[in-house]
Amino acid sequence: MSNPIRILSDHLVNQIAAGEVVERPASVIKELIENSLDAGCARLEIDVEQGGIKRLRVRDDGRGIPRDQLALALARHATSKLTELADLEAVGTLGFRGEALPSIASVSRLTLISRVRPDLESDADTTERAAGDSAWEVAVAIDGRLEGPRPAAHPPGTSVEVRDLFFNTPARRKFLRTEKTEFDHVDQVVRRLALARPDVALELRHNGRVVHQLPAADGRPESVLARLDRLLGSGFAEQSLEIDASAVDLRLHGWVRRPAFSRSQADQQFFYVNGRLIRDRLITHAIRQAFSDFLHQARHPGYVLFLDLPPRLVDVNVHPAKHEVRFRESRQVHDFIQRALQRRLAHGVLGGVVSDES
Ligand code: ADP
Ligand code: MG
Repeated sequence: MSNPIRILSDHLVNQIAAGEVVERPASVIKELIENSLDAGCARLEIDVEQGGIKRLRVRDDGRGIPRDQLALALARHATSKLTELADLEAVGTLGFRGEALPSIASVSRLTLISRVRPDLESDADTTERAAGDSAWEVAVAIDGRLEGPRPAAHPPGTSVEVRDLFFNTPARRKFLRTEKTEFDHVDQVVRRLALARPDVALELRHNGRVVHQLPAADGRPESVLARLDRLLGSGFAEQSLEIDASAVDLRLHGWVRRPAFSRSQADQQFFYVNGRLIRDRLITHAIRQAFSDFLHQARHPGYVLFLDLPPRLVDVNVHPAKHEVRFRESRQVHDFIQRALQRRLAHGVLGGVVSDES
């Protein structure tokens, strides 16, 4: 006798979805930071304990979530970033699936505290605040039910705290590595996002120790370069060529290490499409091709590159973790990147512009 067909409970559906987005503490951090950036924050504080396995918290000074929407933020398929299919054709935010928070909450002990930025407060918010309450907190109980909202103390913005990741899914917990390895992954995620958004101040702490303390770039090119140096080693800026190339609909800007300063490992390769870090064979190939005349086979190019194009020309809804994209005109993108880099390298390396290179 087979079992009868049943509709799965929301809690179970969320746990299954978590399998796709939540692999380890680093994936939680990525989703939380992306939410903070989508909320227009200027400052991020990331606190991690024991590699993020025991506890992690992301705090921002973004627009905040009104009290009556806290529960919705944790509900499945609930998002403020998409309202109709047409929006999906032109996603301008990092998130849009409305899956991250409920998925994370289903495999951890999650607390969400938020206070709406004063300039965005509604009349109802102000009345509540007049009564003495400034921020609101909701927590997810073990059975998936919501506790709160209850008053809390918090500056304008949002904090999400995640404790005991995978406490209720032992099979997944087994896949977590040592505290150090998990923290290395967290650090990678933070670095990638910090490279993309020098305009956002960022602090990362592990077990109470400050790992990164990055001031926001102030608009001067030097302040952006200072962040690159802090994240990629001092000398990165000096050893790199800046690139800024445009074609119809496409713009490529950023930095490539001069071939003489290429790497023995592929450890400094950061490529962002509309601000989102992606891994793409086509793009890797285009870059490799561009470097082929300048680089020994065994060496790896280093780069921090940003490709910007109208959202309608790229599909980001390929995988829940959103590492992959699909270009509408992939050949055109490939050739544009290759040519732009080739030209820059030829100019920078052979054109005598660089006289300080040995
Ligand atoms: P998505 O980012 O795909 O919309 P999430 O589950 O990550 O889905 O978040 C659900 C919603 O909660 C978001 O659409 C947003 O409205 C709100 N939210 C989440 N994090 C924050 C934050 N840090 N600041 C403001 N709003 C947030
Ligand atoms: Mg999100």
